Amino acid sequence: MATGGLLAGRLALVSGAGSGIGRAICQAFAKEGAILAAVDVNKNNAESTLSMLQDGPHAAFSVDISSSSEVNAMMAQIKSHFSQPLIVAVSAAGITRDHFLLKMEEKHFDRIMDINLKGTFLLNQAVGRAIRDAETKDGSIINISSISALRGNIGQANYCASKAGVIGLTKTAAKELAKFNIRVNAVLPGFIETPMTDVVPERVRDIVSLLIPLGRFGRPEEVADTCVFLASDKSRYVTGACLEVTGGLYM
Ligand code: NAP
Repeated sequence: MATGGLLAGRLALVSGAGSGIGRAICQAFAKEGAILAAVDVNKNNAESTLSMLQDGPHAAFSVDISSSSEVNAMMAQIKSHFSQPLIVAVSAAGITRDHFLLKMEEKHFDRIMDINLKGTFLLNQAVGRAIRDAETKDGSIINISSISALRGNIGQANYCASKAGVIGLTKTAAKELAKFNIRVNAVLPGFIETPMTDVVPERVRDIVSLLIPLGRFGRPEEVADTCVFLASDKSRYVTGACLEVTGGLYM
């Protein structure tokens, strides 16, 4: 385990830790000395993420982030497992269920809202309470939204609405939690190479890449580096912000 670093000794919860951006955040945080509570609906995947890190007192936990009872149980497990209080949390769990608006099924709208928006709400509420009660200084909550929240995206009415909701939630949480020394920010990735975008057809990827000023999809670690900044004291006067990590994509 890294002994120094921007996040030395800080306990950080990352949801969606078993894949893609969440996994990269765990790796980047660990490199900066954080202790990870890696949470995912699939605990084996979260454990795989931890197996990629240098040894440390990290632990994996299973949770369906859309269930308040599971979130509360996970928070109790984290509290009893670690000796130090939670100080950082990243809400990176998310899914897509794409279809055109006129063909989208209600159940797919509801599931997206449950995981992407309500799950982020439940995590912000639970972590906000935990950090407030521990009276730790300089808590940081980071919500992974999407550039699609601002621009819309064909076939993603449900997803874009959920991610726009995450921005409203973030800005309100930033105002309400500032008095407890908790900062809350959102990261808005563009197109990032993860299992979520593996399904994008080759011809669509080529078109999208032409629209990205930096000319390529992003890498999960490029989102993770932004999260390191937001989790650390380097961003101590940043709250309620939306940081775009898009290679300049604006469409
Ligand atoms: P990913 O590789 O699919 O990772 C998402 C992780 O969340 C998976 O491990 C998934 O588990 C987990 N998860 C799904 N439902 C869950 C639930 N109910 N409770 C807890 N964990 C759950 O996707 P990603 O690309 O890394 O996306 C991470 C975040 O970035 C998401 O919020 C996504 O919307 C956002 N984002 C991604 C991009 C992009 O281009 N990739 C762009 C903008 C925003 P399973 O695999 O077992 O379902």
